[in-house]
Parts: sequence; C-alpha cells; structure tokens
Amino acid sequence: METESARGAAVSRRIAGRLPSGAEIIECRLANARGTEAAVLTLGATLRSLIVSDALGGSGDVVLGYDSAMEYLHGREYFGATIGRYANRIAMGRFCVGGKWYELERNAPPNAEHGGEQGFDRKIWTIEGTDIADGATLRLSLTSPDRDQGYPGELRVELTYTLTNDDELKIEYSATSSATTIVNLTNHSYWCLAGAAGADALGASLSIESDAYTPVDEHQIPTGELRPVAGTVFDFRTPRVIAERIRDGSEPQLEIARGYDHNFALRGASGRLRPAARLEDSRSGRVLELFTTEPGVQLYTGNFLSGDIVGKGRRLYRQGDGIALEPQHFPDSPNHPHFPSTVLEAGRAWSSTTVYRFSTTQFAG
Ligand code: BGC
Repeated sequence: METESARGAAVSRRIAGRLPSGAEIIECRLANARGTEAAVLTLGATLRSLIVSDALGGSGDVVLGYDSAMEYLHGREYFGATIGRYANRIAMGRFCVGGKWYELERNAPPNAEHGGEQGFDRKIWTIEGTDIADGATLRLSLTSPDRDQGYPGELRVELTYTLTNDDELKIEYSATSSATTIVNLTNHSYWCLAGAAGADALGASLSIESDAYTPVDEHQIPTGELRPVAGTVFDFRTPRVIAERIRDGSEPQLEIARGYDHNFALRGASGRLRPAARLEDSRSGRVLELFTTEPGVQLYTGNFLSGDIVGKGRRLYRQGDGIALEPQHFPDSPNHPHFPSTVLEAGRAWSSTTVYRFSTTQFAG
C-alpha cells in the first residue's frame, strides 16, 4: 500500500481485485483532517465507502455497496458508480444527434439505461494522479472509443474526486468528444445517513430545490411535461420525511415507479453550482447538502432492491435501504427538444460539478 499525507489529509492505494483479464482494480482511500474517509475504486470510478462522523461521537459508512471489489463487476444496482455515457433512460434506445439516428442496446427493455451493459460503471478508469494540497484529491480518466455501447465519437472523460478538510466530497467531471454526441454523467451512490450498516434511509427528511418534476409513462420515460410539485407527494420544497408519502396509492406516479424514481427540475440557472437538495437524519444527526451545476436531480428510493442483494456486512438490501440523489440532465433529453440539451459538439468542452457537504446537527436522538 502506498500512502502520501500532509496536514491531516492522506491518499493511499491498494489492489482491491482483478478482472478475469488480469487487469487490476485499485482502491484509493482519501482521508481528511477530520477523519472522514472516502474509498474509490478504479472499477467504475465507484465511491465504495464514505465514512463520516455522526452527532453522537461515532462514525460510519453512509453508502450502500458490496463487501468485495469483484461484486461490483457483477451487480446491477450501480452502487456508488459513475454512470455514463448517459445517466437514466433513453426511450427505445434511439436518438438523433448531428443529423444522424443512433440505436443503443435496450438493456432495460424497451429502453437503454445508464450507458448500456458495459457502461462507465464497468470500465477500469486510469489513475492520472493524486494530491493532498487542498484536502485529498484523486484524478481519474477514461477514453470511451467511438461507438462504445452505440454512442458516437471518442469521448475522453476526466473525473476528480476531492475530499476537502471541510467535509465536502466534490466530484468534477469534464469531457470532450471527437464527434458530436450526447453526454450525461452522474454518480449513483445510495445514501443512508443513519449508517449503511443499519439501513432504512427513508426515515431521513429531504428537501429539494425544485418546483416541478418530470412525470413518466409506464416505461419510466418522461412524458415531456414539467408538472408542478405543489399539492403532490413530490413537494419537497420544505423538508419532509421520505417515508411519509411514499405509499400513497392515490398517486399513479408512485405506483409506476414503485416509489420515488423521478427527475426534479432544479431552480436556478444550470452551469452554476447551487443548492439542490438536503437530507437530514435525526437519529444520527447527519446532514448531507447537495450542490450541483446540473439542471436536475433524480430521486430514486432503491425501489428495485428486492431483498436478494447481499450488500456490505452480508446484509440483504431491501427497498428503501438507500436513496440515490443523482444530479443529471433530464432522462431521455435527446428525444425532448424542450429539455436542457445534452448535446456535446465535436471538439467542445463539457463539464459538471457536484458537491456533497456533510455536517451534523446539534441534537440527535
Ligand atoms: C433509475 C432507476 C433504476 C436504478 C438502477 C436509477 O437511476 O432511476 O429507475 O432502477 O437507477 O438502475
């Protein structure tokens, strides 16, 4: 194991597993002066664990995942993974960009989802460097060849994880393409602020900086409507415990998705880092504030965790054990011209930043 450290921040690396081809999966641990620690796998540029303090003097992992690095290769839950080239669904796996139609594999029939069977979550990312100047930083890169999973253009992606000494985990993405293409990258962590070892994420209270969401059809594709959240179970303009309304059978949208699995349009101009959501768990006193430059955030309450997934500590994960808050462009944007565009023109630079800020409340109980 190699380690470098300065002013309480440290980065270390170790081999966490090997692909059948023999390629190494490296795990990098980023630690800050407060004892917060993030582990990232080069497989999928995956956030494997995040150990943060609670308000009671303890600390624990707040993201769902598996015990071994190899399990990330076979699972289909995208725990902590970087999703690309296109987060969420593309209807019927078809889109038109630069005047040409493209067909993707329909890996979530009848749609394409999360970049395909061999999306960015399945790739081994290259470590470009680490440093400990301002907290602990890890720089990764990936080159996705032209027509990878059906997408046009060779896409070169750079991704930086920084764990600051103020308990912010910052993810910065940038990309360029050799041909005009579409791009929508996100991180697919499932949060459980009560502590992933005990699960039950739905007891947390959530607020989202959003006045409207994108309802979906029976295949979970946006209908194109931007529906006001006011007066619906999607109203998180003020903090609400997630569990409170998730079983409301009078809301057909919850029935389609088996819970929340919807994109919220965020207030304010995208491209600027601004508050997106806040999650607070009163039992542990942990608070997560999410900031992003993206126009939307997908709230996904782990609806497809069906009790047959063996997670960390050999614990069976069930619905609601973790909630994903995925900063993103809207699902199926290429087929909805009025949604913010996901087109990346050849030779132009694309970028996106998300910050997860952790703190604790004064009173936990
Ligand atoms: C999607 C869900 C999907 C899950 C796992 C989420 O981002 O919104 O519909 O089941 O990822 O693939």
